[in-house]
Amino acid sequence: PSVVNRIAAGEVIQRPASALKELLENSLDAGATNINVTVKDGGLKLIQISDNGHGIRNEDLPLLCERHTTSKLREYDDLQSISTLGFRGEALASMSFVAHVSVITMTAGKTHGYKVSYKDGTMEGEPRPCAAVKGTQIMVENLFYNVAARKKAFKNPGEEYGRIVDVISRYAVHKIGTSFSCKKHGDSRADVHTIVSSSRLDAIKSVYGAGVARDLIAVSASSEDGSHSVFSMEGFISSANHSAKKTVMILFINDRLVECAPLRKAIEVVYATIVPKAAKPFLYFSIVLPAAHVDVNVHPTKKEVSFLHQDNLVDTIQRAVEAKLLDSNT
Ligand code: ADP
Ligand code: MG
Repeated sequence: PSVVNRIAAGEVIQRPASALKELLENSLDAGATNINVTVKDGGLKLIQISDNGHGIRNEDLPLLCERHTTSKLREYDDLQSISTLGFRGEALASMSFVAHVSVITMTAGKTHGYKVSYKDGTMEGEPRPCAAVKGTQIMVENLFYNVAARKKAFKNPGEEYGRIVDVISRYAVHKIGTSFSCKKHGDSRADVHTIVSSSRLDAIKSVYGAGVARDLIAVSASSEDGSHSVFSMEGFISSANHSAKKTVMILFINDRLVECAPLRKAIEVVYATIVPKAAKPFLYFSIVLPAAHVDVNVHPTKKEVSFLHQDNLVDTIQRAVEAKLLDSNT
């Protein structure tokens, strides 16, 4: 059974950055307004995340890493009205099958916290009282220590660290009410460091630089036909002054960081026809759809999303972007 679990876990946790993304989403689900991440060896040795969220109750600790145990979904029907990022209770369980997971947590109004560690889905020993602050700190150590083939696939810790920084950067742009930091263990300087921002543009500026922020134009779109394809989109896209060689597409659908290949394609196509010099766009889009229209179950990593009336949405956004770019070009 443990081999089966390990294989299943590898589907959910494909690389250090996917572990980090799950941990980050848990912290945000817990209402954190400050999140700090420390990484050793591209996340293979250590991913440590500290948040100031609501913490985990002592009585919930024994089942924390049990598969399909979640505090976020009581009934299957809830899938229709889901608002939290996680809902399967699979992420921490998966991590515990392929890494050493330990947790320090304290809920509001308590005088001390608890420290506990997990292996293969179960708690090791009992939670031990310890000094803590309100919130949760999770350490994931020696990722893939028991999956030699997977571990070998990550030859370049710098590249893995880059992916982690990338995920945090994107959330820092989207969640402007939360401050984030990310650094390599032992470094004094952080590679991502944001404060709570007053605007989206400020957040983009602090993460991606003033040069990127300066080129951006606001764009929004929504369904004209309320009868079936209901959505709204707000965001920014780089104008014709932009000269990047690679697309940066930051896409959130219902507050989840996702990929959507058809939308990416559509935007790159209009951008290429309007913007000279073969420049590639920087864009941030936040799309809100009825939860029932989004297929959140499409892939264990929840990365590539699919949803109802996708063609319609992509067309509408493409036209909105086209109009804005033409406008800014004159
Ligand atoms: P899910 O997020 O799908 O519920 P996870 O495996 O990611 O499943 O997490 C399991 C449970 O652990 C969550 O439902 C939540 O109750 C708790 N949890 C995990 N991380 C945190 C955190 N940083 N703060 C508070 N609770 C947490
Ligand atoms: Mg989760």
